[in-house]
Amino acid sequence: MHAKIVEVLGGIYKIVLPLPMRPSQVNVYLIDCAQALALIDTGMNTPQSLDTLKAALETLGRRIEDLDVIIATHYHVDHFGASAPLRQRSGARVYIHREDAARAQRMASLAATPITDRPQSLAFFAMHGFPLERYPPDTMRPSWMGTEGYKPVLEPDEFLSDGDVIEIGSRRLKIIWTPGHSDGHCVVYLEREQALIAGDHLLPTITPHVGLYPEGAANPLGDFLASQHKVQDLPVQAVLPAHGEVYADLHHRVDQLLEHHRRRQDRMLGLVQKSPRTAFEVAERVFGDRPRPVFHVIAATCETLAHLELAFLEGKARKVERDDRVLFQAI
Ligand SMILES: [Zn+2]
Repeated sequence: MHAKIVEVLGGIYKIVLPLPMRPSQVNVYLIDCAQALALIDTGMNTPQSLDTLKAALETLGRRIEDLDVIIATHYHVDHFGASAPLRQRSGARVYIHREDAARAQRMASLAATPITDRPQSLAFFAMHGFPLERYPPDTMRPSWMGTEGYKPVLEPDEFLSDGDVIEIGSRRLKIIWTPGHSDGHCVVYLEREQALIAGDHLLPTITPHVGLYPEGAANPLGDFLASQHKVQDLPVQAVLPAHGEVYADLHHRVDQLLEHHRRRQDRMLGLVQKSPRTAFEVAERVFGDRPRPVFHVIAATCETLAHLELAFLEGKARKVERDDRVLFQAI
């Protein structure tokens, strides 16, 4: 097993772990805190990922059992999926934001309940134009859901809160709550090192998914954009993202993301200028209507809905109810 491990700053290591889907890799970060070892994010709970992590630690003369602290930026499978087995092996204290601990628990209960037994979720998708007759509801879940790949810690040792400073050995890890990509997403700021471990909040080449889901935040895109402003002016020399390469220019990357979302909102509002449409209809036009896994179609619909809802809250669109469906129209 060839482990990709790079010391990005003194004692801070990027470890690249494989994923069985796209993106095909996730970066986790190991921080040598002198007498203590912290891991930010865990990768998925697959044999390939755990073997790669083990091999990476071995090149540093360490073992999984040596981990003292595990901090998750958020609850998603590629970030928190191996947390339960890693804690079991190491006894590490596991930290995650309270909102995302709740989401992890919810994923576990959803995995045990077919969507056909959740009429509210089905009604939500139908209301936003999702053609349930075309996409059988039992295919709506991501492929890893309910599998061994996702073994999150369901009872974390500590909840992360905005502004927390976690002192571990020689390091001070400042937690900044950045809701958007998930309701409890957090980034880890190392002030002295001027490094920002960004999770999925700020990726160098792709924009993270931000979607409005049943029982999720009411305005996730608004949260996401506010979370971008929240970190934009931090003194940072290196942004350490969960996917892709380490990069330097935080301020510029935030500007790019804000601009991307501005343009996308313009495009969507353009599509509902003349006649109102559902989120699903807008998503088909923006993301294409070729056959894709149902899970991707749902993600596109929920992402579109996040945009349209924000436009509604900003007074740029109105909602029209027609035949039990919600259509958006630009104002
Ligand atoms: Zn994620």
